[in-house]
Amino acid sequence: MNYHVNEKGYYGDFGGAYIPEMLYPNVEELRQKYLDIMNSADFKKEFDQLLKDYVGRPSPLYLANRLSEKYGANIFLKREDLNHTGAHKINNTVGQILLAERLGKKRIIAETGAGQHGVATATVCALKGLECVVYMGEIDIERQAPNVARMKMMGATVVAATSGSKTLKDATNEAMRDWINNPVDTHYIIGSVVGPHPYPDMVARFQSIISEETRRQLKEHTGSESPDYVLACVGGGSNAAGMFYHFLDDQHAKLIAVEAAGHGVNSGESAATTILGKEGVLHGSRSILMQTDDGQVIEPYSISAGLDYPGIGPQHAHLFKTRRAEYVCATDDEAMQAGLLLAKLEGIIPAIESSHALAHLEKMNFKKGETVVICLSGRGDKDLNTYMKYFNL
Ligand SMILES: *Cc1c(COP(=O)(O)O)cnc(C)c1O
Repeated sequence: MNYHVNEKGYYGDFGGAYIPEMLYPNVEELRQKYLDIMNSADFKKEFDQLLKDYVGRPSPLYLANRLSEKYGANIFLKREDLNHTGAHKINNTVGQILLAERLGKKRIIAETGAGQHGVATATVCALKGLECVVYMGEIDIERQAPNVARMKMMGATVVAATSGSKTLKDATNEAMRDWINNPVDTHYIIGSVVGPHPYPDMVARFQSIISEETRRQLKEHTGSESPDYVLACVGGGSNAAGMFYHFLDDQHAKLIAVEAAGHGVNSGESAATTILGKEGVLHGSRSILMQTDDGQVIEPYSISAGLDYPGIGPQHAHLFKTRRAEYVCATDDEAMQAGLLLAKLEGIIPAIESSHALAHLEKMNFKKGETVVICLSGRGDKDLNTYMKYFNL
């Protein structure tokens, strides 16, 4: 079974590039050049150097002793929370800014919901001195004031999307419009393994550093680079795609992706895409998404902003359909409790997104001596207000 993208941009039935004709030249330029650029010695050298000196890689693989004792397995945390800017997203934005430079682009655009991807994009634009415009829904700008301030401080222009629901999907529309109007000098940095081909593959490759390091680090810790289980949370699916990448052909490693069930799968307020979703086209690719019978996208909900997305990337749809990975979900409550538990047992406050992956440990039955790797995709600083309200801290 092939779990990677084929020449036509598909993972089995999923993927492709479903875009308005006016975007075709932009996406086609990227498609023709991304692999050559990423495989060039000059690119690799600068990417590796920045991941090391700027992002702080390799991120540690930490054997969480007290968590391991509680659940009866050897549980390792892949510490993406220790990266510069506090999550895995920077791996991708560093990669894409280097690519944009080599494509001769002078201007970067991005869309952001909670602001995490906007911050990661503004960060690398400051690093490279490139103009940065971030589209963000008017409502999200109000809700996410600290991230808006971070972006501005690093020199980005934050543009409010004032149409529709004034949230992520409207910001995405504005960014698309911008890119259509500025095809020559502008690169659009997408923040997850979504969008038209080649974005899902390109982003997964940039994030694959996570599993590349993990295999090496596991070998050092345990003598084997192959764990029994690999877990990650899934919004669009980029940290999971990076965490799974070098385990896809290792059939010993069971892959588990955890989606957000919000108030419960059947509550009408969730983001459990694989359970509730159907096949269709979202944001430029064919995948699985939450939609009504007549194809309207259903507004997702999760307590964690990063998982509040109505679809999953096309590679995940393929891993789901072929059953290479198991897709499960955790509710808001389960995730919040798991976040608190990690804080108490290990002194690590996780991002609420990552807490969803941790929450699944409660539902597993480990055999003695089994090895588990969990992607701790981000740190909880950004979520402190939510933790405070939830636990009355
Ligand atoms: C954005 C984000 C996610 C969700 O995005 P993916 O593309 O699914 O990885 C998960 N964790 C953190 C910390 C995030 O910031």
